[in-house]
Amino acid sequence: MPSINLLPDNTRVDVGTIYGIGRNYVRHVEELNNEMPDEPVLFLKPAASLITQTRQIELPAFSTDIHHEVEVVLLVGREGRNITKDDALHHVTGVAVGLDLTARDTQSALRDKGLPWTTSKGFETAACVSDFLPIQRFRDLGKLHFRLRVNGELRQEGDSSLMIFPVPAIIAHISSIITLQPGDLIFTGTPHGVARIAPGDQLDLSLEDILRAGFTVAGS
Ligand code: MG
Repeated sequence: MPSINLLPDNTRVDVGTIYGIGRNYVRHVEELNNEMPDEPVLFLKPAASLITQTRQIELPAFSTDIHHEVEVVLLVGREGRNITKDDALHHVTGVAVGLDLTARDTQSALRDKGLPWTTSKGFETAACVSDFLPIQRFRDLGKLHFRLRVNGELRQEGDSSLMIFPVPAIIAHISSIITLQPGDLIFTGTPHGVARIAPGDQLDLSLEDILRAGFTVAGS
């Protein structure tokens, strides 16, 4: 079963369901020419797509346009259904920075046909995460600054204050549909600047300058 590493004690946590939120930053919605959402756009990534820094990113054969999407990732620590926004943060135990890798060509084709996005979001190694830090290490989940560098060049920079649906709204929304369970992960959406990755690329992620992770794209 896929698991993540929760600092500071290197606790292994088995991962359950991986939720993703799409279109959660205005400038990213605009760069893909998508409609502004009036409620969070929810999708799933298979737990089997999860990797930590011990593995390389594998580009799937069915796509020629895998995009990086750097995102704040939440670890659910307490079960809950119909969680209120006021209570939402009591259900989050850890925070990480991650990549919601997306086969943009496949996603566009599926979207145009009105079909589910699963293939574009759920391939092998499509969910990459750093170690998780306890939520107590962060003063305000509404002000998290994060970055992605590719081969040393700054490609994406975001701040959770710019989320269309902030963390409490995301937790409330998902738990109004289905019970959130300990070990579930939530990818909270990407800021603008998404672009293609290529074999040999080195992707370096950081969050608030206290979390870092590096991933290499296999092949060259
Ligand atoms: Mg995303």
